[in-house]
Amino acid sequence: MIDRSRLSALLARERAAYADLHPRSAAAYGRAGHLFGRVPMTWMNKTAAGFPIHFETAYGARVTDVDGREYVDFCLGDTGAMAGHAPAPVVEAVTRRLSERGGLATMLPTEEAAEVGAELARRFGVPQWSFTLTATDANRWAIRLLRAVTGRPRVLVNSYCYHGSVDESLIVVGPDGRARGREGNVGAPYDVTRTSRVAEYNDLDGLERELAHGDVAAVLMEPALTNIGIVLPEPGYLAGVRELTRRHGTYLVNDETHTFSAGPGGATAAWGLEPDVVTIGKAIGGGVPIGAYGLTGELAAALSGRSDLDLVDMGGVGGTLAGNPLSLTAARATLGEVLTDAAFARMVEVATGFAGGVRKIVEGYRLPWSVSQLGARVEYRFTAPAPRTGGESAAHADGELEDYLHAYLANRGILLTPFHNMALACPQTTHDDVARHHEVFAAALAELVG
Ligand code: PMP
Repeated sequence: MIDRSRLSALLARERAAYADLHPRSAAAYGRAGHLFGRVPMTWMNKTAAGFPIHFETAYGARVTDVDGREYVDFCLGDTGAMAGHAPAPVVEAVTRRLSERGGLATMLPTEEAAEVGAELARRFGVPQWSFTLTATDANRWAIRLLRAVTGRPRVLVNSYCYHGSVDESLIVVGPDGRARGREGNVGAPYDVTRTSRVAEYNDLDGLERELAHGDVAAVLMEPALTNIGIVLPEPGYLAGVRELTRRHGTYLVNDETHTFSAGPGGATAAWGLEPDVVTIGKAIGGGVPIGAYGLTGELAAALSGRSDLDLVDMGGVGGTLAGNPLSLTAARATLGEVLTDAAFARMVEVATGFAGGVRKIVEGYRLPWSVSQLGARVEYRFTAPAPRTGGESAAHADGELEDYLHAYLANRGILLTPFHNMALACPQTTHDDVARHHEVFAAALAELVG
């Protein structure tokens, strides 16, 4: 369907155009010799055209760069800015907190922490909350707590999941059907197949087979996979996961960091799920670093009753700046005033327009691609029907095609998340923004296959 030599030529043309259009970003990259990889964090080198755009301002759904170019941003910090960039209520609350009350690292609680805990409990249905600085740490600490409370050593995740840089989660089902470490895992501390088990998403038989070993403390999962395209649950799958985890004495952790796009209480509330633990991060701070995990009352009581567990000092669950007033002020404003029920309704409507338009364009060119939506989040994959598992979705990755589309869009003022073909709507994303995307996307396909 796709002429590979045409694709290569178009990608080379778009990369050259990108270099011409972004001389200041290129120069800034060139000057950053004292940054490892020339970027503040090595993953920022995940870019379609050789170096990243260096941004100047970011408000709402708009980013401008150091070359004076403006973008409609559908990446939104890969969900970190799902509340829009620099949402006014968050900027105001954080600025006021700093100027009027000072102190960000006192090792003492502030009153708004309890309010944020109560709001998360209301939204996600689990009542006992604790804070971290990243979603990765929320997952790490949840895993420790569940190992402690069950006395079981292992964690089970879905193949091609992503839960942050959590050692136990970097495991996949290999081509032979057996578990193996995820390719490229940097300095793995041990063979992950000793600490973890893995099943394909939507595969209840595989899950049951792994849980039957009786050594799995927790299943850590996204209610829908979002980091290998969006893989949605088939009817009965999530109920089956809950039933199997209960039957095998395994706790269930819903990582809502991305699936929060499904609605104000994430997929947990939208789909009536009953996890034992909810973990989250990114968007709830409106861009300010925060993570959180929520426990059922039963689980919290079981942990508090264990005098052998050091939850207060150096027991392995902690972070000096976790629960700091900056994170919590930001989360209070984000949840209270920005990511409201009304905002979600608008975001989902805009995302639905995005998905429908992409579907139409793709069908117009008779491309065998699929479009999946999870509330405010949309993603297309280069295969149809939409993949049922992480493994299937991974098998249809096409880096060159993805780079072409990303570079083409960026050169014409549209940003997608660099890691996949994901588009997210924030409260300020408009139908006009979506229409602009569709115009450019259709032009990219016309040049490729028209
Ligand atoms: N969980 C999920 C589902 C994620 O997608 C991510 C990051 N993409 C994380 C956890 C980790 O978040 P962070 O990098 O903020 O720790």
